[in-house]
Amino acid sequence: MKSIYLDYASTTPLAPEVLKAMQLYLTRCFGNPSSLHSFGEKARKAVEDSRKKIAEFLFCLPEEIIFTGSATEASNLAIFGIVRPSIQSIEGSVKPHIITSSIEHKSVFMPCRILEDEGAELTYLPVTKEGFIKISDFKKALKKNTVLVSLIYANNEIGAIQPIGEIAKAISAYRKSHIANYNDKRLAISAMPYFHIDAVQAVNYLDCDVKKLGVDFLTLSGHKIYGPKGIGALYVKNGSPIKPLIYGGGQEGGLRSGTENTAAIAGLGEAIRQIANGKSQIAKIRKLKNKLFKGILKNISDVKLNGTLDNSLPNILNISFRGVEGEAIELALDSEGIAVSTGSACAAKDLKPSHVLMALGVSPKDSHGAIRFSLGKYTTEREIDRVLKVLPGIIERLRKIAGYHSK
Ligand code: PLP
Repeated sequence: MKSIYLDYASTTPLAPEVLKAMQLYLTRCFGNPSSLHSFGEKARKAVEDSRKKIAEFLFCLPEEIIFTGSATEASNLAIFGIVRPSIQSIEGSVKPHIITSSIEHKSVFMPCRILEDEGAELTYLPVTKEGFIKISDFKKALKKNTVLVSLIYANNEIGAIQPIGEIAKAISAYRKSHIANYNDKRLAISAMPYFHIDAVQAVNYLDCDVKKLGVDFLTLSGHKIYGPKGIGALYVKNGSPIKPLIYGGGQEGGLRSGTENTAAIAGLGEAIRQIANGKSQIAKIRKLKNKLFKGILKNISDVKLNGTLDNSLPNILNISFRGVEGEAIELALDSEGIAVSTGSACAAKDLKPSHVLMALGVSPKDSHGAIRFSLGKYTTEREIDRVLKVLPGIIERLRKIAGYHSK
């Protein structure tokens, strides 16, 4: 039985072209990019070539790209790097204020929670039942002490795409009208609030031109784009007063010390280059997702789409199957060689209902029966056909065991 992988939002397989681009730096070209000799020079060139490829993709300058050990680290760098210094430099009763949403990935949510403990003021924006932030809520949340806005571009559980451009416009208008209001000499007040987005799930499918988007920081990850694990990058707009999290030899412009992971960086550059070649895949992936959705609706009763098909990533489909536990479905599908997930892989061991689905207003019961199907560039129509063949039987059997009778 050939296995079927429908968990691309958790991680993607390494593309053959990416593996090829990495191999040289795992073997012959093993130099330290900081060394002056020719071994070092070759490694340094690989790092700088990759930086250029990423800068081209994001429409920014190469020196605005900082390599990190993961997207989690990149987002931590943006959030702590901007907010922590402002906690220390703000005197009196004014606290730095952060705006984020109630459907962030934990790599943003947790740093925000920690900063809240350290004295920052947090606004967690609600979302509509489809998973979108309302611009009116966002505008209302902006305050003169808002230092950072950190939002997910496209959600990893439901695929909802946030109106980043519109939010950037609101920030820009706010900056213009409030320049004189905030008296923190360390921060460039005309640039506040700073705007960070987590584009980890968006990079494969959406426009990531940082100028068009109007963002100051953007996080991306290697292993969600057919690149290696353990590599991420942060776009840091020139002039942003960000402080490092890790100190040492001063690599990455002093923002991320530690010898660069040359092979993974070369792989990330190639993975980004491949995205431009893969744009034609998007329509195919969306078609397969729609087929999967229609097939589930036709053949299985009492199901609920979490989120919406509009303004959502072409590859993520989140469905609740009433009366059944998501984990039971995941395991039953796995025994048929089909890999799906109940939500974010990072929360897979956590039996609490997903905070994303709760924020959408999905009931705890429906949330427990949720499955995330995430497709990718190697997904085929035959694979979708097979899922549609086995899934109705699995749901029927599990519902019987649970004593659930569909209406
Ligand atoms: N942000 C989002 C939206 C994600 O889906 C993930 C991975 O699950 C991350 C951040 C974390 O990425 P990494 O594994 O590179 O730290």
